[in-house]
Amino acid sequence: MSLDQVWVLKWTELAASAAQSHREELTALDRAIGDADHGENLDRGFTAVTQALAQDVPADPAQIFRTIAMTLMSKVGGASGPLLGTAYLRMSSAAAAQMGPRELAAMIEAASAGIQARGRATQGEKTMVDAWAPASRAAQEAAESGADCVGVLQAAADAAAEGAQTTLGMVATKGRASYLGERSAGHLDPGAVSSSYLLDAALKAAQ
Ligand code: ADP
Ligand code: MG
Repeated sequence: MSLDQVWVLKWTELAASAAQSHREELTALDRAIGDADHGENLDRGFTAVTQALAQDVPADPAQIFRTIAMTLMSKVGGASGPLLGTAYLRMSSAAAAQMGPRELAAMIEAASAGIQARGRATQGEKTMVDAWAPASRAAQEAAESGADCVGVLQAAADAAAEGAQTTLGMVATKGRASYLGERSAGHLDPGAVSSSYLLDAALKAAQ
């Protein structure tokens, strides 16, 4: 079993509806340690993505990811636009017409590496990297131990959700939340939480 552009489009549709339904929650998280716009940013970005894809559906996964990347970069004000845009651009480079478990794991790894490079962040700094890095490792391990596509995405989604929870106790050293210093501890990082929803949408699209 492999995944193709039908999965990518379904993933995008579910990501857009997750951005909409979690909008208030993500903005509330950003109100505590940021500037209260993460939910709006993500919802605005994915609404624009849905419109861009409705006008002209690109033919293959790489082109769809590229359209998403360009749209998020131009429509999302705030740090998360270029970061997620970079993740999608890297996924565009790593994607193939048909993706098996190993290709999926490599794609998630590419996204994670892109975010880390763009944000100059590593795990433990209370950012979306704390969802993507464990997701990437879990996906890799699942693929190596023979999991199918759904198994790889399940491992990634579970690790991202757990990773997002680990940000609760962290002190932010990157992004807007770092201005709060020690006072950033005791709150979840909005970008890590939204990233876990994105990876959950990837899983649901494959099920
Ligand atoms: P802004 O912080 O500009 O208002 P958003 O609110 O949309 O942008 O996104 C904030 C999220 O972006 C944070 O919760 C964090 O996960 C992520 N983020 C910010 N800076 C970085 C960075 N340098 N590296 C990785 N992720 C970052
Ligand atoms: Mg913000």
